[in-house]
Amino acid sequence: VIEMGQPEHSVVTTCAYCGVGCSFEAEMKGDKLVRMLPYKGGEANHGHSCVKGRFAFGYATHKDRIRAPMIRDSIDQPWREVSWEGAIGFAAGRLKAIQAEHGRESVGGITSSRCTNEEAYLVQKLIRTAFGNNNTDTCARVCHSPTGYGLKQTLGESAGTQTFDSVLKADCVLVIGANPTDAHPVFGSLLRRRLREGASLLVADPRHIDLLDTPHLNDSMHLPLRPGSNVAMVNALAHVVINEGLEDSDFIASRCDTDGYNQWRDFIADERHAPENVEEITGVPGDKVRAAARAFAKAPNAAIYYGLGVTEHSQGSTTVMGIANLALATGNIGREGVGVNPLRGQNNVQGSCDMGSFPHELPGYQHVSDSVARGHFEAAWGVEIDPEPGLRIPNMFDAAIAGAFRAMYVQGEDIAQSDPNTQHVEQALRSLDCLIVQDIFLNETAKFAHVLLPGSTFLEKNGTFTNAERRINRVRKVMPALAGKEDWEVTQELSNALGYPMNYSHPSEIMDEIASLTPSFAGVNYDKLEQYGSLQWPCNDVHPEGSPIMHVDDFPIGKAKFAITEFVPTTERANRRFPLLLTTGRILSQYNVGAQTRRTENQVWHNEDVLEVHPHDAEERGINDGDWLGISSRAGHTVLRARISERMQPGVVYTTFHHPHSGANVITTDNSDWATNCPEYKVTAVQVEKVTQP
Ligand code: SF4
Repeated sequence: VIEMGQPEHSVVTTCAYCGVGCSFEAEMKGDKLVRMLPYKGGEANHGHSCVKGRFAFGYATHKDRIRAPMIRDSIDQPWREVSWEGAIGFAAGRLKAIQAEHGRESVGGITSSRCTNEEAYLVQKLIRTAFGNNNTDTCARVCHSPTGYGLKQTLGESAGTQTFDSVLKADCVLVIGANPTDAHPVFGSLLRRRLREGASLLVADPRHIDLLDTPHLNDSMHLPLRPGSNVAMVNALAHVVINEGLEDSDFIASRCDTDGYNQWRDFIADERHAPENVEEITGVPGDKVRAAARAFAKAPNAAIYYGLGVTEHSQGSTTVMGIANLALATGNIGREGVGVNPLRGQNNVQGSCDMGSFPHELPGYQHVSDSVARGHFEAAWGVEIDPEPGLRIPNMFDAAIAGAFRAMYVQGEDIAQSDPNTQHVEQALRSLDCLIVQDIFLNETAKFAHVLLPGSTFLEKNGTFTNAERRINRVRKVMPALAGKEDWEVTQELSNALGYPMNYSHPSEIMDEIASLTPSFAGVNYDKLEQYGSLQWPCNDVHPEGSPIMHVDDFPIGKAKFAITEFVPTTERANRRFPLLLTTGRILSQYNVGAQTRRTENQVWHNEDVLEVHPHDAEERGINDGDWLGISSRAGHTVLRARISERMQPGVVYTTFHHPHSGANVITTDNSDWATNCPEYKVTAVQVEKVTQP
């Protein structure tokens, strides 16, 4: 409970919810937080905010917070409260014993997109030094890993190309698989402003999103594509651009690899990609897709914004590359008002990826097989780094079930609730000899843990977050850490207990080390962040004040590369037994699995997840609004209440996953992106039937 009253002083810090990264003044009375006021000097939000950042901070002092470290010998025993020293010693002892018996590769860990850059950097460093392997991954695995892969392949950098403000120069905006007014509200408002000023809107999404209802829209078009058909849709758009001569030949000749372009042009010009020939796949009339492609290609400035509706598919990486192809072919890269813009779900998805959390990449996306880059880290850290990538999260689960992977350190992610196919995840977690969970609440994952280390909220620590526009924002300590330690201090103590010394006295020293080893962060330090307020990477000798727009003159890979993006249907298809396709999303007042927002007053706006069903499908099944529904998939079964809605097309149902009762991940399958293993949360074939109240 937050004590209200008149503020005495304030601290400027960064919202810890979505990837917009709004700045706030945390107004304090003594050491009590009175209110969060959007900060006018914040470059990402200019004094705006949404109901999450503004009001949903009460979780920080909620009674459920873990206030002391706890341990237990096995998961069927009760927790024993111990000192920090006792818990860290217990964890280190178990890790050492497991590695002695089962080998160096038998342990690993997960960094968090909820934590700071400095904390993510330290966890992957702990794993690469004290653990001695590359078994580090991040929760970005299950959201934007295809962005990292797809944009690196095509544009040479694993990041969005623009600032948010760039949208104010766009003439046409294509939104694919994103719902900005709910999931990225402050950016959603900015986009609405531009739409009201006259920019045209194209939405490719299975669901009718609120953006389409923006008052005084000049021109808009909804392409209600079937879940799983993104690649066919972006290929069809590109096909029209090429076959109708709408490409930007000058841009292609000067900025792109022309041999690759010629191959891609031959591929995409084939009539099998024509909008009319993929109607059966996308479900969208060909003439509509043609009109959308013309509007996009003919606009002076056309920008693409996309979200998890693009990435969380078996062809997530292919769609990201298809989006980059479309932007390149129309010359919409390298200036304001254009670009490829992934809308990141969590506050620090961009940052946790930048910080080397992946098993194949060191900080700054430097591949572990690159001997020069590896040499820099080896010299700085005083260890040898394996040139082979380690295990991804789903590989860790499989290896745990097989008995080869025995211990895991999880910082700030509830994998038992947020990863797909819950039964499989729980089996893996139950198989571990040691699970160390560092979190602010006793989450679902902690039920399988042997060590519970209290986490600190964003209000209790210093550090930085990097938002979706590559903006590095300061996070400033507002109140003391509830359990006495910031997350980076805990990681450091675990490392010391394992015998690899770390001796940082402030996160600024960690950032100095990051800057010394990461070319795109070379010009970043805390003094400069104070001076500029924030910095957008790359920030180095070439771009000393940071880079609001990327790829202005050249690409990190010289010339941009077109990718061949063949559509391969997902194996998750509707059939007689599972005739409907389920897809998922978020709502404005809640955040992801709800661990935080459910413990705030935002709960009053949304106290249960429901299943949206089209009236046609409801009538066929005799379903009325509010009925209880059993939802079965090939993976499992859950129960939700019905909401009849015309936002979905017939044959597609939709739910959010903000409450554990939704069981959304009990029914999602093991399918994942071919390149990065990002789960296919967005397509699950289901059957829906009326049931009596659960
Ligand atoms: Fe926080 Fe995102 Fe809302 Fe801004 S838009 S206040 S970053 S949740």
